[in-house]
Amino acid sequence: MIAGQKGSGDRRRRLPPVHALLADARLESWQERLGRDVVRRGVAAVLAVARTQAEAGDVPDAAAILDRVERRLRGESRPRLRAVINATGIVLHTGLGRAPLAAEAVEAVARVAAGYSNLEFDLQDGERGDRHALVASALGELTGAPAAMVVNNNAAAVLLLLAALAAGREVVVSRGELVEIGGSFRIPEVLAQSGASLVEVGTTNRTYARDYTAATKRPGATVALLLKVHQSNFRQVGFTAAPGIAELAAVARGGGIPLAYDMGSGTLWPGLGPQGAVGEPTVREALAAGADVVTWSGDKLLGGPQAGVLCGRADLIRHCARHPLARAVRVDKLTLAALEATLALYREGRAAQAVPALRMLRRPPGELAREAEALAAACGRRLGPRVEVTVVAGASAAGAGALAAVELPTALVRLRARGAAVSEWAAALRTGEVPLVARVQDDALLLDPRTLLPGQSEGVPDLLAAALTALAAG
Ligand SMILES: *Cc1c(COP(=O)(O)O)cnc(C)c1O
Repeated sequence: MIAGQKGSGDRRRRLPPVHALLADARLESWQERLGRDVVRRGVAAVLAVARTQAEAGDVPDAAAILDRVERRLRGESRPRLRAVINATGIVLHTGLGRAPLAAEAVEAVARVAAGYSNLEFDLQDGERGDRHALVASALGELTGAPAAMVVNNNAAAVLLLLAALAAGREVVVSRGELVEIGGSFRIPEVLAQSGASLVEVGTTNRTYARDYTAATKRPGATVALLLKVHQSNFRQVGFTAAPGIAELAAVARGGGIPLAYDMGSGTLWPGLGPQGAVGEPTVREALAAGADVVTWSGDKLLGGPQAGVLCGRADLIRHCARHPLARAVRVDKLTLAALEATLALYREGRAAQAVPALRMLRRPPGELAREAEALAAACGRRLGPRVEVTVVAGASAAGAGALAAVELPTALVRLRARGAAVSEWAAALRTGEVPLVARVQDDALLLDPRTLLPGQSEGVPDLLAAALTALAAG
């Protein structure tokens, strides 16, 4: 009798029972590894889907069901947070964890992670120490700041700064700098959270030093801080004006009020970018120009771990360190280990090669073109005539709101596979054994060699082929 002529209940009964599947040799090692309950739940979930399928007339056999159970268990037993290959060309890709750490930073983390450390213990005199002191002198040397402290991220640094220096009083900010950074971090809202009140000056496109002066001199003013904010992820062009740091510092000094600058990325490297300077002052330059305290990220242009640095005048930093919020946003030992090792690379003059984000941002176009050509050739050999491979000129980006509107020239490997939709190919690449994230544009897959780590290029053709095979298998 043909299956289609039977009732759907009969067809469901032709599926193997749970106990038979659990007794199969293929699931034995899974049960040893993950436990019987986890495997049983996996079998039950796969059978539930198979039942619906059987009712519709398509009864999968035991082997097919075991395939699905194994695939499901493989997926479940993998960590959720996985290493991925970034072929997008976005160096500080927030979705992909921003800056990859230098090997030296990774080693420092491993050393501290597995045992005890002198996180808050002074090895000289055997007494309680200060975790901020671990990196304060390196930060001082690299930025010229008399004092520094490190917190969980730059958002926390800004919140702490405002709460410690301006709660209950006013903070003056230009209307052109009331920005949203993303992830609902909006300057006016963070300011409100800190307990300070916002005094907006200027207009969206033009703000002058005299606007700040007027705000501090108005009757009843309780201004505690002038705050300059890096516009980060957007650029204003055309009829615009904003006072420089030195001009603002003069206003601040005139009113006896500190000037704070949320730099966002905050680079230590002068001349970032392909042709040298990209118009970003370094942290040292911002402080030298007269900012009393600056805040910046550890995992943007610095290329270190997620962290927020506050550095500047010792009395202001001390205020921040003593505020109750400091404990809530404090940085952990793993971060401090990675940060100290990253800063050491800058001090030793090795950062341009040894800090991956910095190296990627500065990679010469000729080197990128050679890597793209080699990758394209390898893809052509591995994937055969079914896939059209070319190298095209394009642009990479710094990402994370850093160097907005700066296009870094690059060479892209462009791939199109006959009979495979590019969005499905990209999805198969993301969900493979080693996830690879590529760009999808104009019906083609684009791979930017800029963000491939040394040694990753070689494995890419196999990943592309495996994804196509997975697509063909449905
Ligand atoms: C990125 C950024 C922040 C937030 O920094 P995180 O380290 O991501 O918390 C704050 N302010 C500015 C101007 C930024 O660019």
